[in-house]
Amino acid sequence: MTNISAPAAHGGFAPSYQDARSAWLTAATERGATIDSLQHPLTGPDGEALWMDVAVFGNRNASDVLVIACGTHGIEGYAGSAVQTAWLRQGGPGALPADVGVVLIHAINPWGFAHWQRGTENNVDLNRNFLSFTEALPANPGYAELHSHLMLSDWNEVEIERAFAALDAFRARVGEQAFSDAFNGGQYSHAEGVFYGGQQPEWSNLALRDMLRRHLGAAKRCVLVDLHTGIGPYGLPFLINLDAPGSFGRECAREIWGDEALSGKGSTHTALASFKGLMIDAFGGELPGCEVSALAAEFGTLERRKMQRAHLALAWLRRQPASAPDSATMQAARTEYREAFIPSDPAWQASVLLTGVALCQQAITGLVKRSHRLNA
Ligand SMILES: [Zn+2]
Repeated sequence: MTNISAPAAHGGFAPSYQDARSAWLTAATERGATIDSLQHPLTGPDGEALWMDVAVFGNRNASDVLVIACGTHGIEGYAGSAVQTAWLRQGGPGALPADVGVVLIHAINPWGFAHWQRGTENNVDLNRNFLSFTEALPANPGYAELHSHLMLSDWNEVEIERAFAALDAFRARVGEQAFSDAFNGGQYSHAEGVFYGGQQPEWSNLALRDMLRRHLGAAKRCVLVDLHTGIGPYGLPFLINLDAPGSFGRECAREIWGDEALSGKGSTHTALASFKGLMIDAFGGELPGCEVSALAAEFGTLERRKMQRAHLALAWLRRQPASAPDSATMQAARTEYREAFIPSDPAWQASVLLTGVALCQQAITGLVKRSHRLNA
């Protein structure tokens, strides 16, 4: 596999995983956090150690806990880490009541973060990997039909157009929902493909479960904010809560974020896929006594077709031999891929920091208010 992580200009965000982690650790420590870290078995592109880090604030036995996570999709962690660090530098959780705790998780998928890839070391989309691997894995016959068209033989416009012609024909035949389910709902059959969910729990999956047991065992209610990029209006938050109407998760999300923010307005997808194996499923599995309200907070980047191009670019890059010289074509594919997930545009990065810090603040304010009401 080729080196995806060769240097590029990246505006105000950290230029590397190591820089992001060290800024985050400093900011969290200065705010009085207790840090817990698990080391990944592999290393980053410069041989650096990789970690999933957790910063714990407040009473460890708090009944209500806010969890803010980043880097589930490795590369997207450059944004989420910058938001967490900026929030900490601006005060972070502040003084917490005894029944409220805050847990920040940094780099759930540190290998992908350090190597500028969305997936794990096994090309696994971690947010499709939280399944019970003791049962048969879900079939995705639509993806099987698309796969060969998505594996470009070269990175050029003729090949890209050929792939999109196949995607468009498939979508016209099956409709938007079935298209989304096939393309990015998750697939367990093609290890080189896109949105591959794996054949076993990834290191990041097991490490996250370990961290949840260690730090959220006493929680009765948890609000999770998982920071992502790639869906929604450019540089602005797009909130996704998949809980059923009337459930704890949905009602709590409505109270904290408001109906308008959860309306799906501004989506860059005509239909969101019916995702399988989401990271939030670890919470239910590991914390049976805890009710969870989970939010994927996306920051929009590019329109969907450009995001799809980015996925094809990464799949092509990953299939180039490690010995291949770094060609102009590979650099172009790499730049297109990175810009789709972490735009170098300073205005985009500034908007993500501003709105991201506001989201963290809204989460803690909402949770403290809720806990006062529940415990009044
Ligand atoms: Zn993501």
